Amino acid sequence: MNANNLDILRQVDPQIAETMEGEIQRQKYGLELIPSENFASPAVLAALGSVMTNKYSEGYPHKRYYGGNVFIDMAEDLAIERAKKLFGAQHVNVQPYSGSPANVAVYVALCDFGNTIMGMNLAHGGHLTHGHKVSFSGKAYHAVQYGVHPETHLIDYDQLRKLARQEKPKIIVSGATAYPREIDFVAFHEIAQEVGAVSMADIAHIAGLIVGGVHQSPFPFTDVVTTTTHKTLRGPRGAIIMCQEQFAKDIDRAVFPGLQGGPHDHVNAAKAVAFHEASKPEFKEYAQQIVRNAKALAEELLAHDFKLISGGTDNHLLLVDLTNKELTGKEAEEALDQAHITCNKNMIPFDPRTPFNPSGIRLGTPALTTRGMMEDQMREVGRLIAEVIHHVGDESVYAGVKGKVRELCEAFPLYPDL
Ligand SMILES: *Cc1c(COP(=O)(O)O)cnc(C)c1O
Repeated sequence: MNANNLDILRQVDPQIAETMEGEIQRQKYGLELIPSENFASPAVLAALGSVMTNKYSEGYPHKRYYGGNVFIDMAEDLAIERAKKLFGAQHVNVQPYSGSPANVAVYVALCDFGNTIMGMNLAHGGHLTHGHKVSFSGKAYHAVQYGVHPETHLIDYDQLRKLARQEKPKIIVSGATAYPREIDFVAFHEIAQEVGAVSMADIAHIAGLIVGGVHQSPFPFTDVVTTTTHKTLRGPRGAIIMCQEQFAKDIDRAVFPGLQGGPHDHVNAAKAVAFHEASKPEFKEYAQQIVRNAKALAEELLAHDFKLISGGTDNHLLLVDLTNKELTGKEAEEALDQAHITCNKNMIPFDPRTPFNPSGIRLGTPALTTRGMMEDQMREVGRLIAEVIHHVGDESVYAGVKGKVRELCEAFPLYPDL
């Protein structure tokens, strides 16, 4: 997407163009702190908005059910080769439409319905697709769930090992959406081996940090690794599955023809672009800065009497426990929104409240770091958050903070062409 094709859209469909203009302004002039979001590069956006979307290419490179795939094959081959090199993976499938279907594909490939799978409890930071009862993963399989220790808020590896020995799961899933500390993929793999389970790491949130060398990698030992491509990896919305050669055939068959139809070739081309960008030295610096920024934001919030789950962060996100404040996670999200600071309400471990009005908010630094913001700006962001939360309901405070947010955004411009 660029100024040119926005013009075309204005002429053909002014209503949708208007929603897009609104969204562009929102992204440019607000502080994006949702840890799963990022700003894709103009090159990634160019691949997404391309003629690659016109093609049908069911099958895999050089083995398609349709003709005319010579260039699509080249693009998919590039995406696969780049992902292999980036992560050190043996086999890569780049076709999953998104993170959730990628996880389903792994279960379908390696389990029968009713088999036991084991993943992290959603309320402790896991993902719906790791066996929650409202999700396909919890309905089609017998899901058992591990969590964090009540005092340290760290994954309780002793509980995990005990549960694994008891339940003998087919797959043990590591990975999380709201866990601020480093995950020990070696420990997960050892426990899986001990009980004869497949080890699966879902690195959706932290893939960019792994590429940047600021989080332990699940490679080369983990059996199967899934990741989204749109979070810290900063590519298009989508996912990939990586695995040891021995699982390759089953995984590929589960994705197509098991679950999906034609691959989204424009998205897969954009994934290739993102892998290229992530292989550059600048991306390593970016990943390191994400973590430094998260630590700076954590320090500032702690200085303003905020409680953080686990006391801080090792990665790109913070889970703020608001139980010592006068408002809930939902109210905090709404108040911050009025000041153009975007975050999401979130359950905290052992939350006494409900998912729709939980006790916490989740904050992350990947998107602001993409804008070029550093530790100084994070401390400023921490002060702005504190100002809003400590003056909840005070519209004049919201307006003042909104003005400061605008200034900060103008100093770190986003998509200058739009
Ligand atoms: C975001 C996420 C997913 C799901 O990705 P979608 O693209 O939203 O389907 C799966 N697992 C984890 C750990 C995630 O953080």
